[in-house]
Amino acid sequence: MTEPNLIDAAADEAVTLTSELIRIDTTNTGDPTTLVGERAAAEFVAEKLTEVGYEITYVESGGKDRHNVIARLAGADPSRGALLVHGHLDVVPADPSEWSVHPFSGAIQDGYVWGRGAVDMKDMVGMTLALARHYKRHDIVPPRDIIFAFLADEEAGGKFGAQWLVDNRPDLFEGATEAISEVGGFSITLRDNVRAYLIETAEKGIRWMKLRVRGTAGHGSMIHRDNAVTKLSEAVARLGNHRFPLVLTDSVREFLAGVTEITGWDFPEDDLEGAVAKLGNISRMIGATLRDTANPTMLTAGYKSNVIPSTAEAAVDCRILPGRLEAFDRELDELLGPDIEKEWMELPPVETTFDGALVDAMTAAVLAEDPGARTLPYMLSGGTDAKSFQRLGIRNFGFAPLRLPADLDFSALFHGVDERVPVDALRFGTRVLDRFFRAS
Ligand SMILES: [Zn+2]
Repeated sequence: MTEPNLIDAAADEAVTLTSELIRIDTTNTGDPTTLVGERAAAEFVAEKLTEVGYEITYVESGGKDRHNVIARLAGADPSRGALLVHGHLDVVPADPSEWSVHPFSGAIQDGYVWGRGAVDMKDMVGMTLALARHYKRHDIVPPRDIIFAFLADEEAGGKFGAQWLVDNRPDLFEGATEAISEVGGFSITLRDNVRAYLIETAEKGIRWMKLRVRGTAGHGSMIHRDNAVTKLSEAVARLGNHRFPLVLTDSVREFLAGVTEITGWDFPEDDLEGAVAKLGNISRMIGATLRDTANPTMLTAGYKSNVIPSTAEAAVDCRILPGRLEAFDRELDELLGPDIEKEWMELPPVETTFDGALVDAMTAAVLAEDPGARTLPYMLSGGTDAKSFQRLGIRNFGFAPLRLPADLDFSALFHGVDERVPVDALRFGTRVLDRFFRAS
């Protein structure tokens, strides 16, 4: 363990760095022409690393003005696989008129660091960067190599960040066997002030699907039997109203069993959704990991009230449980029928087991800082860059530790208004990560 005053200094720096990173507006709308500060953030990180002696690799991905920084800290045993610690530097947009403080102020007030990215995920980037600097400054050698990766474009699916690097620069992740990043390691408070830290072991798959129907164009005043708008509307309604079957994956089953052990609550399969509601705010996310979902999000058709268009299109956001892809496709085909054209962008589900030395090290690090707490695996209903690193055979975990106040609606802060992270939680997370890096 690092001497207390030294790790306190690293924790202080994690708070400052998180605030400084938030002040660099790295909004990623998905449209590369609107990029603002991704380059500035990457250069900031690169400078912080080189300043303390790291040799970094600075990669512009995909020729699209996207910026990534990778650095490796040599461990004591080079024969062991490396640990990859990755974080994205981009954030989703924020409208200042909706916020209590400016979303790119990085204000430190009322015990919180405020701003877009405070929990997604400049908090983890700040903690990681502070520890990377701490180790280099004090010649601290971890048990095995740690690869620090600061990445572009996660919020638009990573096509010009993690995906591109995995396709084009896999050498940068050579020897990495396990990885940590968002979204996990945060606490929820269950009965009697017992905290459970949720470590992400699985993610649903993402399929952003476009549906297209072709019909016959015509005048809106005539009898018309081949209307693309009508056909598409029917298909979208069938899909949007469909309830995919309840499937308990291992991660969800283990999570619920852990909650039962702590609280005594039952999760009967005939009223699982009702029982999950007892979990409070986090139930929105847990509830979404019990079934596949397909939510229609966009409709496009026509250009004039009295013209029947020849095509109509819809976008549907599908989220698919690990192991469910084939079954999902069968149900989809049945619901939509043969006349609907489909195309999509897909990122696979992720799932690993909640066991082994790395999981033990995460649990030990958390419990050393929060005695009496528990760690539990859980499935993220969204997606992260873990989907890309899985393709390199790397085992992925969401572990960005934060001890949170019981009444904070943490999951609502992701992409939400007044996104903020408790200063104490950043300091706690830095100490936990330090113990973890030095024991893993
Ligand atoms: Zn994120």
